[in-house]
Amino acid sequence: MSDSTMKPILLLLLAAPVFAATPTLEIKVDQVGYLTTAAKLALVSSHTAATAFTVNQSKDGKVAWPGGKLSAPVEDPDSGDQVQVADFSKLVKPGTYYIDVPGVGRSWDFEIGLDVYANTWRLAMRSYYGQRCGTAVDLGPEFPGYKHDACHLEGAYHASSGKTGPHVSKGGWHDAGDYGRYVVNSGISTGTLLWTYEMFGSRIKSVDLKIPESGNGSPDILNEIKWNLDWMLSMQDDDGGVWHKQTSEKFCDFIMPEKDKLISFVIGTGKDPFKSTCATGDFAAVMAIAGRVYVHHNPAFATRCLRAAEKAWAWIEKNPNVTFRNPPGVSTGDYGDGNCADERLWASAELFRTTGLAPYQTYFLAHYTDFRKSIRPEGPPSWNNVGALALWTFAMAKGEDAVAASNIRKDSIAAADDIVKRTAANGYRISLATTDYIWGSNGVLANYGMQLLVTDAMAHNALYRETALEDLHYLLGRNTFSLSFVTRVGENPFKHPHHRLSAADGLADPWPGLLSGGPNRGRNDPDMKKLPADLPPAKMYLDEQEAYAANEVAINWNAPLVFLLAGALPGK
Ligand SMILES: [Zn+2]
Repeated sequence: MSDSTMKPILLLLLAAPVFAATPTLEIKVDQVGYLTTAAKLALVSSHTAATAFTVNQSKDGKVAWPGGKLSAPVEDPDSGDQVQVADFSKLVKPGTYYIDVPGVGRSWDFEIGLDVYANTWRLAMRSYYGQRCGTAVDLGPEFPGYKHDACHLEGAYHASSGKTGPHVSKGGWHDAGDYGRYVVNSGISTGTLLWTYEMFGSRIKSVDLKIPESGNGSPDILNEIKWNLDWMLSMQDDDGGVWHKQTSEKFCDFIMPEKDKLISFVIGTGKDPFKSTCATGDFAAVMAIAGRVYVHHNPAFATRCLRAAEKAWAWIEKNPNVTFRNPPGVSTGDYGDGNCADERLWASAELFRTTGLAPYQTYFLAHYTDFRKSIRPEGPPSWNNVGALALWTFAMAKGEDAVAASNIRKDSIAAADDIVKRTAANGYRISLATTDYIWGSNGVLANYGMQLLVTDAMAHNALYRETALEDLHYLLGRNTFSLSFVTRVGENPFKHPHHRLSAADGLADPWPGLLSGGPNRGRNDPDMKKLPADLPPAKMYLDEQEAYAANEVAINWNAPLVFLLAGALPGK
């Protein structure tokens, strides 16, 4: 243990007042906190019969609110817990508090305030800087020692790409716990982050992410996103098509990225036309968004992105459904998707929203009805299902077809109303249905939050935002484990992500701001087989590095978390 890790512990011991008992996992709170004006629920699941609670100030233990009665226990089938509700919505004084339940114990600390999520938003967004490829990264004095050297500088065309020789390996974000870069998953991640800026820009444009570009006059969120856009642009062939991914042929060991000397290959489909339609469709959509988002800060870059999107669109028209599976000899993630029609629709809608040009609208109107069911109460957008993003962006475009936009709004309201109802009836007050406890369930939950916030933007209903906040509370600790699913956030965060950087850096704590994949009823990895097969789905989770199907991190799960947190920040 280093000096720097000892100091906070000593300070904590010196500062700890005598009344501060160890928090119990039986009381579940959002360990970051609650907005002053929003509902504030803590949940209790205890074998001890409990009926009352108080809210106490952390600094001196004084009762800040006399609290009241816990609700009668209700069974939550997804976790198997008996859950009681402690409602302290009436406490509005900003401060740091804990819940005390006589006979059960005290909770972790949490805050009440108007901007309680500001630091969590900053860490979740800054996590993309930690994922940067092709450059040295250093989180600086805030997280001393969290750094890596420039990595994966050698790129080449793989035999499956249709070309030979070296190919630039330029920038981008490592996808997840591995060091690969995948256009499809970059697509939804980068698109979600660009939407975050479009919808909540006034709240986040001044946040200093302490990245090398900070202070250059552009918002840091756009600076960070550009790092990945530059890589995506390098993946477009001269004919407009986009190769599927740039990775080594197999996963490297759990080593630092600069120690990974495997060549980063541009990998294609193995036969003509070598590029894939899903990758090219996602690329076109994202570059079209960039074409309107960067127009004020970097017009030359915005133009370049829009031209790239138009070229990609032209390629898709000639190659409407070239799908991708890993070619022989390649075993990194394949992000295989048998149907690229939703990616194509998303591209048409974003291109229309940016340019207002008729051909994109014509394509969208001819095909959108096939995707109306992708706005639904169960199953928010995901990397292989972007139909809902297409519909929403069209409905938010200027000059949109009124009938189509009205249909989309109607579908969105119906789905959101169902999600609100399901969430209110759920023991942990979350939007996940029982079948949603899949690989990356925390990402699914964050995407429900995003769905609710997008619907709120289209059809103003305070219930949608309030329900999205309930989903956020689960991710930040109000769950069956009383565990914050975001690294270095809250008093009891998960600690052992399946994440090469965190595993190989020799430091005790993981890199900050990363969302765990979360419970996965599929138990899809050997480590998870240690769990009893009959555990309820919400309990199918291990905070272990080996449990890749429950505890990996990924850019496409962090992105809706960034969106959801931005929606909870103060401002317009
Ligand atoms: Zn790298």
